[in-house]
Amino acid sequence: LIELHDVNKYYGDLHVLKDINLTVGRGEVVVVIGPSGSGKSTLCRTVNRLETIQSGTIRLDGQPLPEEGKALAGLRAEVGMVFQAFNLFAHKTVLQNVSLAQMKVRSRKRPEADRRSRELLERVGLADHADKLPAQLSGGQQQRVAIARALAMDPKALLFDEPTSALDPEMITEVLEVMQQLAREGMTMVVVTHEMGFARSAANRVVFMDGGRIVEDRTPEDFFSNPESDRAKDFLSKIL
Ligand code: ATP
Ligand code: MG
Repeated sequence: LIELHDVNKYYGDLHVLKDINLTVGRGEVVVVIGPSGSGKSTLCRTVNRLETIQSGTIRLDGQPLPEEGKALAGLRAEVGMVFQAFNLFAHKTVLQNVSLAQMKVRSRKRPEADRRSRELLERVGLADHADKLPAQLSGGQQQRVAIARALAMDPKALLFDEPTSALDPEMITEVLEVMQQLAREGMTMVVVTHEMGFARSAANRVVFMDGGRIVEDRTPEDFFSNPESDRAKDFLSKIL
């Protein structure tokens, strides 16, 4: 579904993605881990073209990524992204937050968008919070709104960039549970996370990045029991 071929990305002179080759099949869950600055966020951002690349190709469903305009907005709907900061509109209700992009990008009328939003809020366990403002919710609840908002676009895939890093421990679980459920339902997901429990239980593959390169791309069983590179061994010894 998502294919990166020999992708290179520079910020000025800084070479942040080096010859990245990565394929994410339909229904696959790929967890991306690696030290700070290794290029994990940049990798996610290139896939929905929040960043341009200098060489290589990225394909979604066999098609090169669109460059601009309406097609680009369409791409960002098809490859939804959930960030560490939830980026909800502070002055809109939860329901409005989930409905707005559906109306704008998917051209749904408000009643249809709201119906879909309520369905998804129910699914992430927030049916009773539709009329609140984001500030009236906990961090974990806000992140679940952000997930509902991404799902409302009927994406082909979802990218998560450290979705639980800003959350208190007791809220991490509720967000991971929603993500686990999505994984079970067959959503294609790329997840940057330090939650190794999630990687072990939900990932089809673990991709370990270091210095802008993919150093390992293996099943979680393989990776955790038998990391090959010294960098991965070193990284695991620090976080496990
Ligand atoms: P972290 O675990 O800290 O989130 P990361 O693996 O997500 O790290 P990236 O954010 O992808 O790493 O950054 C990769 C490299 O690119 C780093 O050296 C970073 O300083 C640099 N970088 C990221 N964004 C920019 C930018 N907008 N301009 C210049 N350099 C950047
Ligand atoms: Mg990052």
